[in-house]
Amino acid sequence: MLIVAKHAGFCMGVRLAVNKALETAKLCAKKGLECRSLGDLINNPSAVEYLHSKGIKKVDKVEDARGAVLVIRSHGVSKEILEQAEKTALKTVDCTCPFVERLHESVYEYSKNGKPVILIGDEKHPEIIGTAGWCRGDVYILDSAEEVKNLPDNLNDALVVAQTTFPPPVFEDILSRIKERFSGVEYRNTICAATVSRQQEACEIANWADCMIIVGGRNSANTRKLHETCLKYCPHSYLVESAAEIPPHLLALRGAVNIGITAGASTPEWTLKEVVDIMNDIERNDQVQPDQTEQAETANVTVSDPHEHPAEPVIEKAVSQESTTVQVTYIDGDPHEESADNSPAQDAQEVPETPESALSADNVADTPEASLEEEAAPAEAEAPVTPKDLLKEAVDNFARIRQGQEVEGKIVQLTEDEVCVNIGYKSDGLMPRSELIDPDAKVGDTIEVEIVKVNDGEGNVIVSQRNIVRKHKWEEICKKFDSGEIVEAVVQRAVKGGLLCNIESFRTFIPASHVARNFVSDLNPFVGKTVKVKLLELEQRKRHIVASRKQALIEEREKAKEAAWAKLEEGAIVKGIVRRFAKFGAFVDLGGVDGLIHISDISWVRGVKPEEVLKVNSEVDVLIMSLDEEKERIQLGYKQLHPKPWDNVEEKYPVGAIFNREVVRLCSFGAFIELEPGVDGLCHISQISTQRVEDIESALAPGQMVDVKILSVDPHAKRISLSIREAMEDTVFDNDFDSDIPNIEIPEEDEPVYESSMATAFKEAFAEKLEAQEEADEADEEAVEETAEETVEEVDEAEETPEEADEVEEEVEESEEDSEEPEEGEEETDEDSDEPKE
Ligand code: SF4
Repeated sequence: MLIVAKHAGFCMGVRLAVNKALETAKLCAKKGLECRSLGDLINNPSAVEYLHSKGIKKVDKVEDARGAVLVIRSHGVSKEILEQAEKTALKTVDCTCPFVERLHESVYEYSKNGKPVILIGDEKHPEIIGTAGWCRGDVYILDSAEEVKNLPDNLNDALVVAQTTFPPPVFEDILSRIKERFSGVEYRNTICAATVSRQQEACEIANWADCMIIVGGRNSANTRKLHETCLKYCPHSYLVESAAEIPPHLLALRGAVNIGITAGASTPEWTLKEVVDIMNDIERNDQVQPDQTEQAETANVTVSDPHEHPAEPVIEKAVSQESTTVQVTYIDGDPHEESADNSPAQDAQEVPETPESALSADNVADTPEASLEEEAAPAEAEAPVTPKDLLKEAVDNFARIRQGQEVEGKIVQLTEDEVCVNIGYKSDGLMPRSELIDPDAKVGDTIEVEIVKVNDGEGNVIVSQRNIVRKHKWEEICKKFDSGEIVEAVVQRAVKGGLLCNIESFRTFIPASHVARNFVSDLNPFVGKTVKVKLLELEQRKRHIVASRKQALIEEREKAKEAAWAKLEEGAIVKGIVRRFAKFGAFVDLGGVDGLIHISDISWVRGVKPEEVLKVNSEVDVLIMSLDEEKERIQLGYKQLHPKPWDNVEEKYPVGAIFNREVVRLCSFGAFIELEPGVDGLCHISQISTQRVEDIESALAPGQMVDVKILSVDPHAKRISLSIREAMEDTVFDNDFDSDIPNIEIPEEDEPVYESSMATAFKEAFAEKLEAQEEADEADEEAVEETAEETVEEVDEAEETPEEADEVEEEVEESEEDSEEPEEGEEETDEDSDEPKE
């Protein structure tokens, strides 16, 4: 008979914590936040693994949860850690069990004024560590009565409290010893009711059972205490973390043995159910034994509730899917009596006096009495089956197979529909042909199979090879999930909420919000494509996956960034792609990380817009001027890799050379002509034409292209003097008056044919100039003096301001120069022509 404790599995506090944490994780996944738990949320490896698969990852320090949502475990933490968590994490979700919170409040209130506290519990248990952190005075931790003598003598005003899961009888014992020593101590029973009920029930079942299975994590204090309690009443008590740990000799038992099952407060339902199912299978196996068919048509799994549910069957659920015939009943009162009355193994009354001793495999094998009894036993078929016999048979057969187990077997029969595999068990394994992976497999081949069912109801073991492959693939996926690896998914179709994909044939869903970094309204273009995704959630039971392409893109970008940063160094010249322009510069992609060329570093020429120098998507060489990895700022230079416009200006624009350039600006004293971006020259008004120019705007206009001759270059002062007039003259000479011309006699009657209108203009201008020169020759010196005197008078009048005086003086000089007319062929030059003259 099998009895499962009613108070087995998650207690209220653990259930609350798990639900709250799962809700938090869901919300975090929705908002793209990280969810962390400070230590294991509860003390059970499989539950922790499940929570991990839901995105709740464990951190050991509060600092590791910076920027994440932090879940505080059900055991609680110290006041200081809680405060630190609230400051450090993005948000803190406190899942401390309300009973534990009450314990914290008790010790905090009591010790506020420095009074001591005696904590009874395991000093290494997180609940005790957390509780000690709420005590403001001295704290003494002990977990046995023997340790009371080690306490100091001044604890008369101490408060005594216990870990919420501490065994009540042990607490009573320690407390009475403390009270004997310190009569003035206050005490509070802080052991939670769930623990008390669980312990009491475990005692009762263990007292009745031949063998107890306690399901739970070895790191769970209350599971360990349950085990210790059960051992006192039932020496064959086994603590197992999962069904895989059920001792093999128990797997071979039959219904004549009373088996009790209980579980710790942090044991998830699925682990408990797995163990119950396996043990239930044993009961069912027993049913098909020909000698017991009559009395064991159904397996009796009894859920114990000796306190609250007397007599009638209350739970009507089937314990396992396969066990539709399994009856679940509560026992009334003493489990011993119930088993004696109702168990199919009623013959257990004939069981030897110490059936427990028979449950030890070693005992069966080694005890001489056992063999003597066996020898002495009559060999009749109707001989009563005792637990000892069952155990011996179990040990002899030692089948060691269970559901989900992987075993090696030899193909012994191969038909079109079915494959029969010898797995070394009393029955061969059967599987449909479709479950065989290798189409060329033949009789005699050794293959690996998974036990799907230990007994299909007809005594056959059902196996599968395909399951193993899928299982291994799933394990691989789980590993990738844990390591955060990016995997490939093939998009099958677009649905309303996202994309349905396949990862290694496992159904995968990518929510629409996780398809790309930005929202994508039409998902159809993704269908049929292979995309890289990050696994967000694994549904272990259904083997479904939730994945994010967006996350994968972000991570890949982050990696590329890291790689790019590792390569960058100040002063290096690197290649980049111009990505976009802004008012203040241009962004250049350096292979995963963007740098900025500030507008002032794009060109040596002021006022130039980025798009005038660079082109989007073009590759450019840039200089890394500065790096700030923390702020992710890279300052780049572009102009720095190009010569300054005034560098080598003398070579580029030698004196005497003529260039065709654009007039960019006019002013009263001349015109500025752009030789190249950033290099302008000045053509003084006197150098604009062969004729005197009064109004510059009548002679030139911005945008006009003109020939200019370089008169002088001063790279230090950044001045270049230009002359249109001389360029004009040179052009004429080049075209019409080159060295050959004097040797050519031009008949008077023949009109010379000039090649350019400029030459014509020059000729006319030249003629006028000659005429003017003649007139000037005729002018007497007196006229010159008069002019000078008049000008001097003007100077005197203009002495009111020095500037005006200067201007007039300059005019005087100019007029004097004008009066000194150049000789024929002599050209006017103005070395300082870039200085404004009035
Ligand atoms: S055993 Fe009790 S105190 Fe501990 S978590 Fe469960 S309900 Fe809370």
